[in-house]
Amino acid sequence: TGLVVAMDGPSGSGKSSASRGVARALGLRYLDTGAMYRAITWWMLRKGVDLSDQAAIASRADEPVLVSGTDPESPAIQVDGVDVAGPIRSQEVTAAVSLVAAVPEVRARLVALQREIIGSGDIVVEGRDIGTVVAPDATLKVYLTASAEARATRRTAELTGTSVEAQQAAMARRDTLDSTRKTDPLSMAVGAVELDTTALNLDEVIAEVLRLIKE
Ligand code: C5P
Repeated sequence: TGLVVAMDGPSGSGKSSASRGVARALGLRYLDTGAMYRAITWWMLRKGVDLSDQAAIASRADEPVLVSGTDPESPAIQVDGVDVAGPIRSQEVTAAVSLVAAVPEVRARLVALQREIIGSGDIVVEGRDIGTVVAPDATLKVYLTASAEARATRRTAELTGTSVEAQQAAMARRDTLDSTRKTDPLSMAVGAVELDTTALNLDEVIAEVLRLIKE
């Protein structure tokens, strides 16, 4: 089977840019699993589902029709035929996604979809549980980290109207929810290589992952 590169880590660790860059460099497909959790969250918000009610989320987890693209040049995602690549990056979705991602029925559905897309491989997959749950037999598992300040600074540069301090607090909340949930919490997989990106630029991170793939 083909190459599968699992890229996990907390928000702002540089996963998305690095994963896309590696896929592009090697002509591989690219899957952003966070976008799938964001898309389901966007749909739940739009349907008025009470996100403080886990049973309500669970009962509707199978309803939205999700289509994920795998082109690293233009990551595409649709829900019920609507292109949601823009709206899933809103503050509203970002603030709510960890609640939806904590629901086991949501995770079961998305993990199954992700495994279908991964298929026979030749893909870089980024998320929180790729090396631990979705693709434990991946060719290479990378666990990206960076200091809380570096992560908040990067994220703030992508957004408008927010401060590094506010961003750091929001990210800390989301990371705590993602690392302490009962189902598939964010954690470093057995056999994963930890890569601290605090002092590295994007090209250096990509070069290091490419080196690890060749090893
Ligand atoms: O990576 P991104 O910030 O887009 O992920 C959004 C959220 O989706 C995360 O904070 C986490 O709650 C959830 N997620 C997850 N498992 C994944 C990918 C994302 O639980 N594999």
